[in-house]
Amino acid sequence: MSEELETVAELAKRRGFFFRSSEAYGGVAGFFTYGPQGAALKRNIEDAWRDRFVTREGNMEISAPDVMPEPVFESSGHLDGFDDMIVECPDCGASHRADHLVEDNSEYEDAEALGVERVAELLGELDVACPACGASLADEPVDDFNLMFETAIGPGTSQPGYLRPETAQGIFVEFPRLKEYARGKLPFGVAQVGTAWRNEISPRRGLIRVREFTQAELEQFIDPETDEPPLDEVADVSVPLYSAEAQSGDGGIETYTVGEAVEAGVIESDWIAYYLGVARDWYASVGIDMDRFRYRQHLAGERAHYAADCWDAEVEVDGEWIEATGFAYRSDYDLSNHAAGSGEDFTVFRQYDEPRTVERATVDPDMATLGPEFGGAAADVAAALDDLAARDPDAFDGDAVEVEVDGEPYEVDTDVANFSVETVTESGEHVTPHVVEPSFGIGRLFYAALIHSYREDEVDGEARTYLDLPAELAPTFACVAPLVSNDEGIVERAEEVRERLRAAGFEVAYDESGSIGRRYRRQDEVGTPVCVTVDHETLEQAEYDDATVTLRDRDTTAQARVRAADLPALLTELRAGTDFAALSEREDVHPL
Ligand code: AMP
Repeated sequence: MSEELETVAELAKRRGFFFRSSEAYGGVAGFFTYGPQGAALKRNIEDAWRDRFVTREGNMEISAPDVMPEPVFESSGHLDGFDDMIVECPDCGASHRADHLVEDNSEYEDAEALGVERVAELLGELDVACPACGASLADEPVDDFNLMFETAIGPGTSQPGYLRPETAQGIFVEFPRLKEYARGKLPFGVAQVGTAWRNEISPRRGLIRVREFTQAELEQFIDPETDEPPLDEVADVSVPLYSAEAQSGDGGIETYTVGEAVEAGVIESDWIAYYLGVARDWYASVGIDMDRFRYRQHLAGERAHYAADCWDAEVEVDGEWIEATGFAYRSDYDLSNHAAGSGEDFTVFRQYDEPRTVERATVDPDMATLGPEFGGAAADVAAALDDLAARDPDAFDGDAVEVEVDGEPYEVDTDVANFSVETVTESGEHVTPHVVEPSFGIGRLFYAALIHSYREDEVDGEARTYLDLPAELAPTFACVAPLVSNDEGIVERAEEVRERLRAAGFEVAYDESGSIGRRYRRQDEVGTPVCVTVDHETLEQAEYDDATVTLRDRDTTAQARVRAADLPALLTELRAGTDFAALSEREDVHPL
């Protein structure tokens, strides 16, 4: 771990941002508890996400269960394919991600794409040793390991369930109902902020790879033929792109506006481009350093077969690029699979501008003939005839027609099939929506925001550390401090300031222990944007409304004298992003 990470991990634990869970019982890898400061910061990031991706986009938000039954994950593909490569040490028994070991010991950047067999070979060729004990892993087998946590629903084992490995499935399976709430009209978006669970083989690096984490996912349902995103709104946003082409050659990150990137075909999907634009400004607003941020396009071999265009938002932590969000054009893959798996209707009705008259081929098989002839297969033969009529009406031109059921050929007289072509007028058709998905990992963003906002400087000849968090995100917004704790009048007035600010909706801490300088440092360290100090001068005015206090800025340590009664209005401005220097130009603010 680098010095930067160690310092932040120590701060996180000491000041209550996050720490390993269940440490009284020795702790367990991959599970963390967010302490009082951390829980507040995490909640503020989630609220900022909701504000941008739910409220401002006019989307819906739902909250689905963490446990879902097995058929959901059969249809989604997770039961079969949500695997990582595992290798176990023959000596110490430690389990490792085989592809990560290959990456750590070679120039390969995406060893997962090489497949299990090649990775097993590479462990031998590279003579990889167990990172825990040093034993050779060269001849050890590499297996697929499913990352889902399995559980039993109810007593017994008859109904297996799984903790969802992504919140998205909770949205997809409810689509038949959700489309009703959207009155059957595309496009619409459904979001969820909730817990996802992955039984990671080797959790590592603080909050980056954990076993329980919070995702904020948006599933944007669109009609691929008709729905366009409001691209104009983000056309001028600059985005640092690391395209697949640049990764394949010796290219680097190039900055485009969203409009230019679409024009040049670097971003293929307009919908993905729209969300990359929206998210770019949002990341900056939650404390991500834009010099340590990029959008990386998936390489062709990296993306799922159904995904048309995929980009990851990556943040730099400890010299490595970490995926913080995946943006994927998922086509109709999810909804089609759940339709097939459940037999329910996962389509919406697309109304034509004008009704259309079309020729529709139909069959009306004579079951009194098919039944005796084909026995138990008769119903399937009838269904196959129906399919064939829709697909290939010309097949009914002859005297007989052939269909296949379970690999067996069946010949049916065309008369018995009762083939006909009808002219019908249709007002629209059923279509399965496509899905565009931005999938944010809140824990990774939290971690990156903490690391990117960590600052060290010197104040009055003394080293200090502070978190340069955006005011809106700060876990504690202000700290009220009586200058001295042994003056009853000052303490009483300070308590009154605290109560009034809390009543006005501010997260306010109160600190009366130690020198005022030490108290400021304590707040700087957790990123509290301002401190309010009540002193002897405050008491010169008997009425609260006339009394003045000092307001101190975290980043510059500048101070100003303001009326206590003006604090709610001034703090509201600061929380909305006005900086202290700009605030100090107001008539009612008197810089010291
Ligand atoms: P994925 O479905 O793998 O693309 O994950 C979506 C997002 O969830 C990622 O961009 C990460 O931010 C987050 N994420 C995935 N796996 C983990 C993990 N093990 N620990 C923390 N965050 C994760």
